[in-house]
Amino acid sequence: MNLEQYKKAVELLNLYSYHYYVLDNPITTDEVYDKLYHEVLEYEESHEDDILAFSPTQRVGDVISDGFSKASHLSRMWSLEDVFDSEGLEKWLTKTYKLDKHITFYCEPKYDGASLNLIYENGELTQAITRGDGVEGELITQNVKTIRSVALTIAHKDKIEIRGEVVIYKDEFAKINKERLLRGEAVFANPRNASAGSLRQLDPSITASRNLVFLPYGVGENTLEHKLLSQKMEYIYSLGFKKPPIRGVCKDFTEIEAIYEVMKRDRDSYPMMLDGMVVKVDEISSQIDMGYTVKNPRFSVAYKFPAVEKITTLKKIILQVGRTGVVTPVAIVKPTNIDGVVVERATLHNFDEIDRKDIRLKDKVIILRSGDVIPKIIKVLTHERDGSEVKVQRPTTCPVCGSELLDEGVLLKCQNLTCEARVINSIIYFASKPCLNIDGLGNKIVEALFDAGVVKSVLDLFDLKSSKLLMLEGFKEKKAQNLLSAIENAKGCDYWRFINSLGIEHIGEVASKTLSARFGSGFIDAAKDEIIALEGFGEEMAESVLEFVRVNRDTILKLQNILRPLEPVQREEAKENPFKGKSVVLTGSMSESRDIIKEMLESLGAKVVSSVSKKTDFVIYGEDAGSKYDKAMSLGVVCLSEEEMRDVTKIG
Ligand code: NAD
Repeated sequence: MNLEQYKKAVELLNLYSYHYYVLDNPITTDEVYDKLYHEVLEYEESHEDDILAFSPTQRVGDVISDGFSKASHLSRMWSLEDVFDSEGLEKWLTKTYKLDKHITFYCEPKYDGASLNLIYENGELTQAITRGDGVEGELITQNVKTIRSVALTIAHKDKIEIRGEVVIYKDEFAKINKERLLRGEAVFANPRNASAGSLRQLDPSITASRNLVFLPYGVGENTLEHKLLSQKMEYIYSLGFKKPPIRGVCKDFTEIEAIYEVMKRDRDSYPMMLDGMVVKVDEISSQIDMGYTVKNPRFSVAYKFPAVEKITTLKKIILQVGRTGVVTPVAIVKPTNIDGVVVERATLHNFDEIDRKDIRLKDKVIILRSGDVIPKIIKVLTHERDGSEVKVQRPTTCPVCGSELLDEGVLLKCQNLTCEARVINSIIYFASKPCLNIDGLGNKIVEALFDAGVVKSVLDLFDLKSSKLLMLEGFKEKKAQNLLSAIENAKGCDYWRFINSLGIEHIGEVASKTLSARFGSGFIDAAKDEIIALEGFGEEMAESVLEFVRVNRDTILKLQNILRPLEPVQREEAKENPFKGKSVVLTGSMSESRDIIKEMLESLGAKVVSSVSKKTDFVIYGEDAGSKYDKAMSLGVVCLSEEEMRDVTKIG
């Protein structure tokens, strides 16, 4: 890098930062930003005289927006040095051990949100300030007071600054973006931008509606006398703040690596986004000796996780037709490696989304792949367009059977019931795990059976003969026998599985269970008002069941005759217990899935319903209980924690 390139790089980094910190709408990935940042850092290390005062290496990144008044932190807030692999960690450790050999390390998640400083005086929250430039930030006390995990009073009377990250849990993020999509508003690129944006709303009621969560990671000015950071943090948690989902004190490199691997492996199972792990010297006296650079503490480092976002190019869009006839566009992108997996496809949901995001062929896009979810395009880099990009046309005919598509706005549908794609996908669905769970009947085999003309409908599955299977490529005696026995084993399944396997629109696993429990095989004769009266059912679902039965009654009866699904057993009357005959609502996350707890309460004779009213007898709450808990409290409904509920029932 020469001086000219250095200046350009600094300018570009500042442009990226403006979009990231001020507009909460990044125009590149963290990976691209970090790479360029490190190139700039390298140049500055060997050209100290050239360092520009406004280089991002010289200051904490956030910019203060105009809407709020400014306030000073009692002691400075900092950024973090980062490393990306074990080699980087080793180098950091060598550097740190040179400052002090006798140290241990406190490791905790690096939350991906927005930093916040809380000032408590006399046990009361007096000010909440964003990090800003580290010296002063935006005063957002009113907004922060709406965050339930921020204690408004604490049992610590000395003046103290508690620092932490404000995040949005992943499920809440998905909910907010869905609502924004429906309202035709721009979606947030990621939970970090969503939390930063939600925190800096001029109207606190908007902040309140976003269910933000505060996770403490340190203290600023304080009079605490603990010798170790880990002890200070335990004290902070004891004041009523949330603990990290994982934390630990480590002796050395090997132990740090071990906890990092656990965090990286489990990152998708935590409710909040993590982008790495922070390693901090645990001994406070050593921290004080080590001090700070212009931007970072010398006693901590962010050990980043591999990137889950990459920039790639959209090559083409293919169309898939599902079992209900819905046509889904799928993006084919230039193959890109994300955390060890080569990604070539990404979901696009529907054509409305393509229109709204103005996604064009040849566009540069940011693609996200995290956990098991299908990769998705989260952003189009419109500023990188050169004019050669091509608008995507909305299809008017089915790509498989050629019949005219029904355009319902958000959804495009092939209405041809005999469309090959619909038939194949409904057979795949019929055999899938939550339906008849027939092993060995996946996409490829169903397609092969269909193409060979052996299976044209689900009924044909039960006429399959080994001789026919053996004629197909890849089938030997054993595989054929296994498939035939798997199909045979589906007979005598639970009745709800039978209903679910029919693939009735709007009727999934839960609704199938409800229908089965109430009517069993009588569901085909159920009246509309009887169906609507079921919990969780509405007009649209009832219509869907009636219409399906009207069109497919013969097939249902034939299948029922072959499969002989088991009628649901009627529950025995529960013995006397505090929940018998009571109306119960569950809220918050529990130690087991809510379905299991619901089942357990139902076996005790309780009626588990979804919304709280004056008629509710008990609300049982888990972690992060939300508005249902508040409503129950305001109505005077008895609220029990999960543990209390188990104590009462003497179960679990
Ligand atoms: P940072 O986010 O890498 O690290 C410092 C911050 O981490 C702290 O201020 C704190 O808010 C947070 N943090 C979370 N958990 C923590 C914990 N347990 N302990 C201490 N701090 C914790 O640094 P930064 O200066 O805020 O931002 C720089 C990063 O932002 C870059 O590395 C880059 O990835 C990203 N960025 C991206 C773009 C873009 O366009 N995509 C632009 C600018 C910055």
